[in-house]
Amino acid sequence: MRRLLFMPLVAASLFIGCSKLQNEPRLVVYIVVDQAMPELLEKYDHLFTGGYRWLKDNGVRFNQAYHEHGYTTTGPGHFVLSSGRHPGKGGIFTNFWFDRETKESWYCVQDTASIVLKDGSVGRSYENIETDALGDWLKIANPNSKVISLAGKDRTSVLLGGKNPDLALWYDKSGGWTTSSYYNLSLPKWVDNFNSQLNIESFVDSIWDRMADEAIYTFNTRADNYSGESDWTTANGYSPTFPIEFREMGIKKLLGSFAYTPFGDKTILKLGLTAVNEYQLGKDENSDILFLGLSATDGIGHSFGAHSHEQLDNYLRLDKNLGAFIQNLESTVGSGKTLYVLSSDHGAFGLPEYLQSQGIDSGRIPKPKRDSLYSFVKNEIEKKVGTGKVNRYGNFFYYDNSINPLERKLATEILKTHLSKLAGIHTVITKEDMLKGGDSDYKKRLKNMVHPEKSPDIYLIPKKYWTWIYPTGASHGSPYDYDAHVPLIFARGGQKATMESIRVKTIDIAPTIAKILKIDFPQSIDGKVLSIE
Ligand SMILES: [Zn+2]
Repeated sequence: MRRLLFMPLVAASLFIGCSKLQNEPRLVVYIVVDQAMPELLEKYDHLFTGGYRWLKDNGVRFNQAYHEHGYTTTGPGHFVLSSGRHPGKGGIFTNFWFDRETKESWYCVQDTASIVLKDGSVGRSYENIETDALGDWLKIANPNSKVISLAGKDRTSVLLGGKNPDLALWYDKSGGWTTSSYYNLSLPKWVDNFNSQLNIESFVDSIWDRMADEAIYTFNTRADNYSGESDWTTANGYSPTFPIEFREMGIKKLLGSFAYTPFGDKTILKLGLTAVNEYQLGKDENSDILFLGLSATDGIGHSFGAHSHEQLDNYLRLDKNLGAFIQNLESTVGSGKTLYVLSSDHGAFGLPEYLQSQGIDSGRIPKPKRDSLYSFVKNEIEKKVGTGKVNRYGNFFYYDNSINPLERKLATEILKTHLSKLAGIHTVITKEDMLKGGDSDYKKRLKNMVHPEKSPDIYLIPKKYWTWIYPTGASHGSPYDYDAHVPLIFARGGQKATMESIRVKTIDIAPTIAKILKIDFPQSIDGKVLSIE
């Protein structure tokens, strides 16, 4: 590992005051709920009696915590949460990108030097990521400390865990948890045992129904069946309302999407408790970290939307399951000995159709028009600039390394002129313009998402509350506050509940945990230590 410049604690003058939270915890449980929305945690607050309730009642809550990068998706979000760095600088500016050297797609945690144990496919790891993360700082400070990362998505587990965790597991989309040969040459026996007892196939006989009275859903959110919902719970056809019968989606689809159900999250929490026991986390003077990446809120948000009955039910179920998880840790590790940190990789805004009903200018960028416009600009570029000079990858445009300044200028003119006419597009902007930054949060976020060499050359930024998702479903990914706003709670048994309304950044979470653990962190990171009174 390359040498890093560390911030000596004695010189870290950013800490203000001290509190119970700054007594070193034995265990840190860093919970990242994918697509958790502060708006919904407030709206449903009166319904929580479990883990969300406990975290709020025993925590310092920042209600104005924001990601400060422009492309608010899973990879960049988890990278920031664990590394304290903006995604551009770290080179995790999106989930997938076009590699100009190989002219192929690259996945943010791809590692061609390792394999996934489950099936021998291309490995996933932190190997090709330029930076390090919280778990690595802990390992350097104390090699006896344990770092465990468990998640539904591989990129979540890898990006939270950092370069050198003791274990990084993710759901293998076929009924169990796996890792890559970067971490372990074989799965630990206890993970094999856990997998063999899971029997996810048996869920095919299950029904997912509301866990509370229907009136609670009717009263607290919109109608169950709503225009714009997509539905992954059937193999064919459409069945967007409760109860959801897993039999209808069939075994293959159930296994593939299990991590996106509330039952997937429940299983990760169970896996977490098993790991605590196996590694005796929090049991000695060497503080440990357990990262938990929970994906159901994202999966349900994408399909049914933020304001659906399904999402409300998922919030209630996670509240209940987190409650049981925390009670278990408080009794096994010891009351007040665990620091719980809750946040999210990004927010969301729900179905455009629902937002329209609320009087908001929202919509879907029309895919057929988008596709024909992309064909048109491709032809224009080939006529005026030549072939092989511009590569489109998703909604990003990458200039080939062979492009000269005049060709670059011509291509940029063509792309800007024509693509800005697409319905729902706010702006078509170059990488160079984004790197100029500016005073507004919006411009700073655009700058923070750019890697000077690897990033695309042309970005299309949708208008506020407009989405690329078409014709149904919901998403996130914009530089706007609703996608950048995330929950942030630092909780510990017996800690006085406090609400902080100052605006804070997610790059600050990792160094704040480092400070609480009394470990050093690199001077080069972007975040600073938050004051937790
Ligand atoms: Zn998502």
